[in-house]
Amino acid sequence: METKTFAELGLSSKVQAAISAAGYTSPTPIQAAAIPIAVTGRDVLGIAQTGTGKTASFVLPMITRLETGRARARMPRSLILAPTRELAAQVAQSFEKYGINNKLSLALLIGGVSMDDQVKKLDRGVDVLIATPGRLLDHFQRGRVMLMGVEILVIDEADRMLDMGFIPDIERICKLLPPRRQTLFFSATMPPEITRLVSQFLTNPERIEVAPPATTAKTITQLFRFCDNGEDWAKREVLRELISSQNVKNAIIFCNRKVEVAILHKSLVKHGFSAGALHGDMDQKSRMETLDKFRSGELKLLAASDVAARGLDIPDVSHIFNFDLPWQSDDYVHRIGRTGRAGKEGVSTSLVTIDELKSLKDIEKMLGEPVVWIGEPPSAEDFAEAGKKRRGRGGRGAQRQR
Ligand code: AMP
Repeated sequence: METKTFAELGLSSKVQAAISAAGYTSPTPIQAAAIPIAVTGRDVLGIAQTGTGKTASFVLPMITRLETGRARARMPRSLILAPTRELAAQVAQSFEKYGINNKLSLALLIGGVSMDDQVKKLDRGVDVLIATPGRLLDHFQRGRVMLMGVEILVIDEADRMLDMGFIPDIERICKLLPPRRQTLFFSATMPPEITRLVSQFLTNPERIEVAPPATTAKTITQLFRFCDNGEDWAKREVLRELISSQNVKNAIIFCNRKVEVAILHKSLVKHGFSAGALHGDMDQKSRMETLDKFRSGELKLLAASDVAARGLDIPDVSHIFNFDLPWQSDDYVHRIGRTGRAGKEGVSTSLVTIDELKSLKDIEKMLGEPVVWIGEPPSAEDFAEAGKKRRGRGGRGAQRQR
């Protein structure tokens, strides 16, 4: 792909000035491909994940397009749907950053925080409404927001919405919007349910697919540590050893279940580590507080679940630990993509128990090369044992409780 400059993408001069102020010198591939299409008002299907610069690829053209026209009471001019509160809050931050030269009004409808201020803003009229689907429908049903003025719809991280069971909500919302609108749709993967949604609600979209950052990032050293003893206490001991032996500036430690996040967090604190936790059950305020402390360096370690961490903009993480191996290999890519950004060196270390050797095989297949073990690798017998153990195992229902 030829290298484009921001000046060639059709963005307004105010937006270009904000990009320079943000310190960006050239567009990322998704930005170079999506922005020229989006500024013309056409629909975009962007297959891209966090870390590719996808947020700016819709925020920048939106600001440009919203420069003409004005907001009317209770009728937002554009709507962004995001799967989690954190992602919604981050998109809002992007509007503030890239919209410093524009006087756009914005409201955020998310769970867990008082919405009185946001409702007042909606009453006055907003250019941009950012919401999680359930919250939006809630406000719509109470008559606090009308959707027939929406000119631009963005659906961010659609595959995550699918994982979280939001697709029926998305369908309901899309049907409430004017059919003549622009839709910018982003998803890291394209399972059949998402393809169906795209064909139902997008009009002749330009499909833009970019490589996931993690698989292209050669700056991440990926290590695996086999845990012979798969008991949680034994894994925590291994984890402590790893943290102490690696030169950890700051790290995110991923667990598959939210209860494990809480247990691990407690244990780390008990062992004298500076650690916080982030999981789906926490209220908005404590999540934000924890995140701020982690960003500022006050907390060095952050135990997190995938849902809680999805889409978070946390620069400069030196290490990732997978306390549990993720069930899906694209979650693995997401997790490790939190390190090794912007050419910096990053290390990810994954603990692997005998029960997880099947998931490991999937990850290995995706990476296209054998994984690198620190310590003793699992033996052929371990792999054979793993095959036997998996049969007859129930209780996978906990997977959803993230
Ligand atoms: P995203 O994929 O939207 O989560 O963005 C990932 C990170 O890249 C964010 O921290 C952005 O601030 C940053 N970013 C976005 N666009 C650019 C760019 N053109 N040059 C450098 N950094 C960027």
